[in-house]
Formats: sequence, C-alpha cells, structure tokens
Amino acid sequence: MSTVLTLLLLWIVVSAGLLTAMHGRLLRALWREPVLTRPVVIVESDDWGPGPAADAGILRAIAAILDAIRDRSGRPAVMTLGIVLGVPDGSAILAANGKIYVRRSLAEAEFAPIVAAIRDGCVKGVFALQRHGLEHFWPAALLARLAGDAALREWLADPSARSEALPAALQSRWVDSARLPSTPLAPPVIDAAVSEEAALFERIFGELPQVVVPNTFVWNDALERAWAAHGVRCVVTPGCRYEGRDAAGALGPPTRRTLNGERGVGGLRYVVRNDYFEPIRGHRAERVWQAIAARTAQGRPTLLETHRESFIAPPEPARTALIELERALRGAVARHPDLCFMRTAELVGHFDDAASPLRARALPIRLCAWLCRLQAEPRCARLLKATGLAWPLRSAGWLLGTLTRNGAMSPRLARLH
Ligand SMILES: [Zn+2]
Repeated sequence: MSTVLTLLLLWIVVSAGLLTAMHGRLLRALWREPVLTRPVVIVESDDWGPGPAADAGILRAIAAILDAIRDRSGRPAVMTLGIVLGVPDGSAILAANGKIYVRRSLAEAEFAPIVAAIRDGCVKGVFALQRHGLEHFWPAALLARLAGDAALREWLADPSARSEALPAALQSRWVDSARLPSTPLAPPVIDAAVSEEAALFERIFGELPQVVVPNTFVWNDALERAWAAHGVRCVVTPGCRYEGRDAAGALGPPTRRTLNGERGVGGLRYVVRNDYFEPIRGHRAERVWQAIAARTAQGRPTLLETHRESFIAPPEPARTALIELERALRGAVARHPDLCFMRTAELVGHFDDAASPLRARALPIRLCAWLCRLQAEPRCARLLKATGLAWPLRSAGWLLGTLTRNGAMSPRLARLH
C-alpha cells in the first residue's frame, strides 16, 4: 500500500515539477492576476463615430435596453463605446488626387445627433467612452495606397462607406501599412497623433477617456508612452499584443501576453477582453451566459467584445442584435444575482486597489480561481492532460467546492465551481 502511495506521490511531484519547469512564469502570472469576489460584466463595443443620423437612433435604442437592466445595487448595464472621431472626406481627397488628407469629424453639425445620443447615454451611466483612434486607419498609409488601388478609391468615393469595409491591414491605425509587411511609425509622429486625438476628444465630448482600445490590437511601446503622456491609464487587449501586419496583411505573431492588471509602459494597466458577443456573426445570449460562468469561475471579469457592425446591420439582423443584447444581460442577472455592472475605467480602479472589496484575498478563493485558470490555459491544459495531473487538480477543486458548500469557507467559493 505504501508503495502505491509513494508512486502516486512521486507521479504528482514529477508532473507538478514538469509543469513548473515548462510554464513557471505563466503559473506565477496567473497567481498574481487579481481575483474578483463577484461576477463583473462589461459589454465592450468599438467603432462608433461619424455616420448617418440613423446611428443616433440605434445608440438610443441600445441605451434604453441597458438602462432597463440593473444589478442588485441598481446600477444599469454598461456598454463601452470605442470612439473613432473622424472619417475621410472622400470627395475632397479624390479632388486633390490623393495629395492631401481631409477629415470630417464628430465636431461637425451633421453628426450632432450621434454625439448627443452618446452623451445622453454617458449621463445615464449606460455608455462609457473609450479612445479608438482619430481615424480607424493611418491617413498617410491610406493616401499612399490610393494610386494603385481602385477598390480603395471606390470606397472613398462612397459617402456611405464605413471604415469596417476597409482592407484589414489598413484598419490597423498604429502602423504604416502603405507597404506590407507593415513598418512601425516614428515615435514623434505617434506622439503628435495621440495629442491631436486627445485635444479633439475633449473639444467634442468635454472629457478625455482614460481607456484606449488599440485598433485591431496592433500597438507598441512608443504608443503606450504617448498614451500615458496624454491621460491614458488603461489599454484594452485581447490577451496579447500585436505589433504589425505581415506580407499578406494578416496580423503578425503576438509579441507578448497580457493578463488583467499587468502593467505596460508608463504604468498603464492592461484589461483583457475575454469573450465575444457579435450577433451579426451568430453569437447569441447562451454564449454570453457560458462566458460569464467560465470567467466567474476563474475570478475574472467578463469583457464581451462587440462592434457597431452588429447594430448598424440591415433591419432584421440589427433587431436580432438588440433582442440578444437584452436577453443576454437579463439572463446574466438572473443567473448571477450578485453580478456587478461597471465601466472598464472603474474595473481598473479595483485592479489598482488591493484593498478593494471586489478583490479576493482569502487563500482558498484565490486557489480555486487559479486552478480554473490553469485548466483554461491551452498550454497548461495540454500538459495537465498528458501527465494526468488534470485529474488531481479537478479533485482539489471539487474538494474546495465541497468544503464551501458545507459552510467551511466563504459562500462565494461555491460559485467558483
Ligand atoms: Zn475597431
């Protein structure tokens, strides 16, 4: 019997040693990542900016849905709006044969209904502004590609064309995609562009958001330095950073991983969008509920990425998007009565504050979340499966959950399993 126990112990020690040797840094990072005591849900949407007046009506319809869904503190559901301040004045640019860039911005009277809808939503607490670029492209790169690209000239000539229809490589604002593979922009040019965007943002909205969403998640240290110098405290990421486009225009390989609360240049904090809610791509409320259950078990907030594209779609899919948004959030509150709605900037405040009541400090709760995170990491999960270590880890989680259900630990722990 003692031989069996010894072998069992040896297997666990060797497997755990292998896991630590291969992924030690990741294991430590997952342990340091803040663990939340309550489910947090934020809908993160991008690409809002100049457009037809109908966009204002869509924004107001979204705001009405969010306002009617409250957490137990009475706070409404929040959708962050990644704002693009400007679009090209296509006819002026084409008239100048692409020699100069001319912008139309949200400051113009034509777009006042959109700005008013956004501001009203902010006052109600259902919208929160985030920076998403002065344009959704780098103007010099657009002009450089114009001469040899008939489709691009056609896009510019169409006053109803949206930035969503641009080639993917051009949508990465913070690199020069005039030629592929892309090249980095010079730091002084980046700094000037970030400064210009900040000034226009304040002029239009009377406030400067502290949260930025890099277009297509392509950015670098120079940009973080410029953002930090111009009031940004938080960068929203998809869990990694890309720094360029390859020869085919696709995203290059990630250059670093990012976890919630980790710091970048200038003390910026990263916040991770960890799931999607894109009704136009078929995502429905059920997917949101699964995401919230999984992220809550990991002690993480659920940040759902979505885009204007789903809501400005033709009438039928746009209506479906609104229906699913409401169903997803109402269902989330019903499934998690202690769920909190908040802005991403507030979430970052909790990451900054180790004493926040939203942060778990009890060891069993943090351990439970860490075990769930481990099993959700593809690299760790493969090794856990290969070594068979997944089984004792699951058992440890089950044991912690059982102790909780018996009242030996915080009742919060029960929901982590
Ligand atoms: Zn975007």
